[in-house]
Amino acid sequence: MTIQAIPMRYKGEQMRSTLEADWAATLDHYQIAWEYEPLALNMDDGIKYLPDFHLPHQRVWAEVKGPSDDNIGKAIEFQKLLERTDAHKWDFEQQLVVILRPSRGGMAVWEGTAYAQDIVVIRCANCDRFAFMDYAATWKCRFCHMDGKQIFNHPGDIFRNGDLEFHRAPRQHRRAA
Ligand SMILES: [Zn+2]
Repeated sequence: MTIQAIPMRYKGEQMRSTLEADWAATLDHYQIAWEYEPLALNMDDGIKYLPDFHLPHQRVWAEVKGPSDDNIGKAIEFQKLLERTDAHKWDFEQQLVVILRPSRGGMAVWEGTAYAQDIVVIRCANCDRFAFMDYAATWKCRFCHMDGKQIFNHPGDIFRNGDLEFHRAPRQHRRAA
């Protein structure tokens, strides 16, 4: 079965699907700044890749994919490329590439693009901002650089895949089929 994506406008950006717009609305809810398709990349093998979102303040790239869309090869390659050109994984400045999925039961669903990653969203105890973090690597806030266990005041400050509420973009411009 193929599900046709319905384009949708959100905050002045023409997005390819309602799912992309919903993720933009979810990022907005958590006050995470995003850029939509800010650049096209030429991968090593000459393949073009257009990442869906860049989260500029936290050095995260995100690719929105359907529930069972396994076509994430470009995102995986992009993560490898960033690891080659960046520092090692223990450097909190390491850029992350995450896959954003449709919500399950009203909660946000995501995954990493490298086997060793354990991607969570944290709410920093120091600066109170939400950010993606590789829990398997450095525990350091990508905004204020606070590190170690001090960035978590409460167990509830760590949101695992499926623990964070998902928010939908308003549908006022929906056209009749
Ligand atoms: Zn912080």
